[in-house]
Amino acid sequence: MSETTSGSPSPGTPSREEIRVGVYVCHCGGNISDVVDVAKVVEEVGRHPSVEVSKHFPFLCSDPGQQLILEDIRRNGVNRVVVSACSPFLHETTFRKALQRAGLNPYLYEHVNVREQVSWVHKAKRESATEKAIRLTLAGVEKVARQDPLEAIRVQAEPHVVVIGAGIAGMRAAVSAARRGLRVTLIEKSDRTGGRLNELATLYPDNESARAVVDDLTQMVVGDGNIDLCLNSRLTMVDGYVGSFTVGFETRGPEGPILRQVRAGAIILATGFRHYEPFEGELGYGQSPDVMTLPEFNRALESTPPGDLPTFGGRRVRHVAFVHCVGSRQIEGVHRPQPDGRVNDYCSRVCCTAALHSIHRLMDKHPGVRVFDVYRDIRTYGRGHEDLYEKASKRGVLFFRHTEENQPTVELQASQNGHPPHRIRVRDVLTWNEEVEIPVDLVVLATGMMPSDIGGIVQTMKLPVGSDRFLQEVHPKLRPVEVANNGVFLAGTCQGPMDAVEAVAAGEAAAVKASILLSKGVIEMDPFVARVREERCDGCALCLNECEYRGALAMAESADGRKVARVNPALCAGCGACAAVCEPRAIEVAGWSLDQFDAMVDALVSR
Ligand SMILES: Cc1cc2nc3c(=O)[nH]c(=O)nc-3n(C[C@H](O)[C@H](O)[C@H](O)COP(=O)(O)OP(=O)(O)OC[C@H]3O[C@@H](n4cnc5c(N)ncnc54)[C@H](O)[C@@H]3O)c2cc1C
Repeated sequence: MSETTSGSPSPGTPSREEIRVGVYVCHCGGNISDVVDVAKVVEEVGRHPSVEVSKHFPFLCSDPGQQLILEDIRRNGVNRVVVSACSPFLHETTFRKALQRAGLNPYLYEHVNVREQVSWVHKAKRESATEKAIRLTLAGVEKVARQDPLEAIRVQAEPHVVVIGAGIAGMRAAVSAARRGLRVTLIEKSDRTGGRLNELATLYPDNESARAVVDDLTQMVVGDGNIDLCLNSRLTMVDGYVGSFTVGFETRGPEGPILRQVRAGAIILATGFRHYEPFEGELGYGQSPDVMTLPEFNRALESTPPGDLPTFGGRRVRHVAFVHCVGSRQIEGVHRPQPDGRVNDYCSRVCCTAALHSIHRLMDKHPGVRVFDVYRDIRTYGRGHEDLYEKASKRGVLFFRHTEENQPTVELQASQNGHPPHRIRVRDVLTWNEEVEIPVDLVVLATGMMPSDIGGIVQTMKLPVGSDRFLQEVHPKLRPVEVANNGVFLAGTCQGPMDAVEAVAAGEAAAVKASILLSKGVIEMDPFVARVREERCDGCALCLNECEYRGALAMAESADGRKVARVNPALCAGCGACAAVCEPRAIEVAGWSLDQFDAMVDALVSR
């Protein structure tokens, strides 16, 4: 690893007296200036002793706006910059780069959000909005005045990706990464590729053969010299950090297990989902062979010979009911919780369309069946999915809608001389809450999706998990396939319920992210990570207990022989949990020191 210590002041740091802050307030084309009196902000902030220049401008992100800042750095001796504008997510990098172009350390910069945090939320209060903008900007000045120049953290990037799980998402990610020049190790625990698609005959919305999709993708995987497909394999260890992970795995072979290790710059998790398993007696499940889950029904349907009516388990079936939302959108106090005490309150998204797709397959193969569909809401959200719903209505499928308070019930009875033996009771919203009794031969439960059992991997890699137990991305819109652990990406249904099309798109996205990360051979990361002032560290190690990032903090020996905490900047996420418990203030996050926080708070409350 070639890395520079983050946060260490670069030579040439100006002394406190030489600090000259340039403050720039953006109008954002009226977005800010229609509410905030930008001239007043500039005037008030300009009185601060560290502020050299204070200006406002219609669009600071434009070329002339950036030029204004560059000129002040070059000609007017500005050596710290505060921009009060939109969200830092949009333009913080833009302005850091501008500083760099002017020859200034890009981290001597503070971005203050006076659009989302001021003008957009205090539209009708011009005066107090202006006051808030002044205080926030002053806090930015105080912070940047205490900012040391920082250097980005640089680590070598191994051009190799490990993908865990060879379902459709993992295979797509592997193929896409390999085509971008990366070597790929694709680790699959079972003896074949394709994951859950192997359970399906055809795929909605286009009736494509699932086998053909899996075979095509498997051919691409197997035929790509850059991909090492390792079936019957399971992860044994992960060590290291972004750019340089060491991944250990064990492959079961005819002559016993083989242990292997690879070095990889990034890891893509594509471990998929498992089906919700109804408990014994849930809507009659487990108490009669006439109640089955949708995956079980799909399998059974494959082996019925075509004809007017199907035969399941030796019994001819005429009336079939599909019940939606089994194991999804559960309600606390109504549904039985999972072993961890939580109910599955999320929508599994796929099951509505999957159930309708199966209904059509059933009716295509066995035109004599009558189908009933018992649902709370139909959520056929994808392109072409709604057609399946509409077509089902036109084919005579009878729909019954219940509310969340009135869940349907299934009453099982013995066979009654050719009459449908079982009853579904539902209070039907579509007939003004009439209590309807549906006689049926077969009940199909559209069961939801749950994450694969990957507790071991989650623990080994300290991965973030959402309240729904699926792996959690950093941000659903801004960083949708990244987790908080640097260099680890998500592909497919390990992240949440999605259909095959979405899983493939996620696999592709994860591969692109990984290849961008590794393409230059060196990874540059922001230096906002913990740093230890060893002379202050008393070796109490409380910080180690707080650290959630494996290996980011460890005890080491200082030059004078004391036990002190030491940070691995490549593993640290800069969360600050360690700094919060450090009484002697020996640990701080570079760019977010406690001194800076103190000064910002003072600035916010002192007017
Ligand atoms: C009843 C039903 C019907 C559906 N029908 C359709 C449809 O018609 N059309 C459609 O687009 N979508 C459909 N879907 C959704 C589709 O099944 C999923 O979108 C797709 O399977 C997701 O692929 P994946 O790769 O994310 O996960 P998976 O298919 O679950 O693959 C994950 C892979 O990871 C492997 N794995 C798990 N853990 C580990 C580990 N620890 N180490 C190594 N390998 C591991 C698994 O063995 C598996 O091979 C349906 C879903 C259901 C429930």
